[in-house]
Amino acid sequence: MDAQPSLSRSISSHFHGVLSVCRGAWSHARKLALNIALPTLCVACRDPVEGEGVCADCWAKMSFIAPPFCPRLGIPFVYDPGPDMLSMEAIANPPAYARARAAVRYDDVARKLVHALKYQDRTDLAPAMGRWMARAGRELLAEADVLVPVPLHWRRGWSRRYNQSGVLARVIEGETGVRVAVETLRRIRPTEQQIGLSRTERASNVQGAFKVASDRQPAIEGRRVVLIDDVLTSGATVDACARALLRAKAAAVDVLVFARVVDGPRTPI
Ligand SMILES: [Zn+2]
Repeated sequence: MDAQPSLSRSISSHFHGVLSVCRGAWSHARKLALNIALPTLCVACRDPVEGEGVCADCWAKMSFIAPPFCPRLGIPFVYDPGPDMLSMEAIANPPAYARARAAVRYDDVARKLVHALKYQDRTDLAPAMGRWMARAGRELLAEADVLVPVPLHWRRGWSRRYNQSGVLARVIEGETGVRVAVETLRRIRPTEQQIGLSRTERASNVQGAFKVASDRQPAIEGRRVVLIDDVLTSGATVDACARALLRAKAAAVDVLVFARVVDGPRTPI
């Protein structure tokens, strides 16, 4: 914590020195503040934990999604059918987006992480969650021009103060250098919570709910977009968002989420 004397020395000598000392002191102070602020209980089981919010036992219970999976929907396959083999769902009911990827299955631990980020202001969990997403979406992000978080309706954003998808998108931007297009996609009408709705109800609930603001269309037109969200359940929300982005002439839309619901591994066809 002796940043002050070295800082004064630098002012008299080198301007660049000042900058780097400032940065060093700032990042040190920030780390210190973070260490003090970080809760020391595992998000999932409440056992004491150091670091990123999940203890070793809960970490081991997390179900990371790895190949083989359907190249379009990202749903895990029971065996590897070779490249370009799609799941039955992808053929029967093709989504508006090109490809979806998820870091983990939406099981018990993932649900607690998502819930803590969304409703308990646990933005300290976002760096780890975003890094896992960046890894799962490597292939999509390598080709992406821009990241677009699924927006909250402003009223919900106001009461919750931040958009969890936006927070995750910022982490992925930091990891990959792919920029977040802010305030591009808007929720133009409030929607019911998707919880408890059937697949058809979910689709009609979000249909036409999103729009690319006309002054933001240049950020989307001709660009390859990766849509960012926390959870993919039926896919109705990201599908409605993808349609809005494609109407604004996006070159392609892929989807990257932290967790997705997987009913069971699929047999490829
Ligand atoms: Zn735990």
